[in-house]
Amino acid sequence: MTRDIAHASEAPTISDICDFKSPISRSRWTCGWIGWRIISTSMAATIETKVTVFLSQRAKTRTALSLMIFGTVLSDMVMAGDDAPHWTYKGDTGPEHWAELSPDYVTCGIGVHQSPVDIVNTIAAKLDPLVFDYQSRGTEIVNNGHTLQVNAEPGSELRVGGEIFELLQIHVHSPSEHRINGEAFPLEAHFVHQDAQGSLAVVAVLFRSGAWNEYLAKIGNEAPEVGRSATIDLDFRTLPIYHDHLSYYRYSGSLTTPPCTEGVRWFVLKAVTTASPAQAATFVSFIGEDARGPQPINARVIIEH
Ligand SMILES: [Zn+2]
Repeated sequence: MTRDIAHASEAPTISDICDFKSPISRSRWTCGWIGWRIISTSMAATIETKVTVFLSQRAKTRTALSLMIFGTVLSDMVMAGDDAPHWTYKGDTGPEHWAELSPDYVTCGIGVHQSPVDIVNTIAAKLDPLVFDYQSRGTEIVNNGHTLQVNAEPGSELRVGGEIFELLQIHVHSPSEHRINGEAFPLEAHFVHQDAQGSLAVVAVLFRSGAWNEYLAKIGNEAPEVGRSATIDLDFRTLPIYHDHLSYYRYSGSLTTPPCTEGVRWFVLKAVTTASPAQAATFVSFIGEDARGPQPINARVIIEH
């Protein structure tokens, strides 16, 4: 049987998945297979950590510092004064080359817990509900050349499993970065949260082609030119994602942009919303396609609830 594993640290343990004392436990073969994957994940993560430290202790330190100091990540900033190495979504500075562009970006190449992923072969489990307590507004929109990002005023929280994450920003990718059983979507929004220790939790919302979306319209209407910011008034209290018992996929991953830092908790909502084809085209016209392709799942487990 499964247990409530949302409290667990990044990777679930075998005891989270299998209770051998239970008469209705999963078969020993299934549990053994899951256990092997978890153990493999742990070993691979240990090796990856040692290699990463060896290759780039400075990079890790700088990344950690930048996470602590600036908080808002998932897209690097190309605003004036930022000396981060230039990266893009195609060509010589595209995703296949990110790890070569800077010692700070090595995790993009050697990480084994990278995002996004194609969500397949999931394991059903009981997970804590996502409790959205959004009480603030987005008042600034930034075009950083990689995405359109709405920065949140303080006061909006995501609570899950007794942990509290504050909403930092929302941004959009086109097409989607995550896939479900191989299916990509026209747009994907990322709600980026951070807890008091600096750990990140990202809620991903997928959009399929359909009805016009008023919130995306607001972002599209207020979008500034590359490298600029503008004012916006996005009331997070009215965002239509606050259902009780939201179903979602959960896995441990990374930032989907350089420096591809790992240890990010991902919650991909199963409920897919809609955006009109014209809205999706609008986002591409502003930014171009800004989606990293699916990364190897390796020995990770994707839990669904
Ligand atoms: Zn993102």
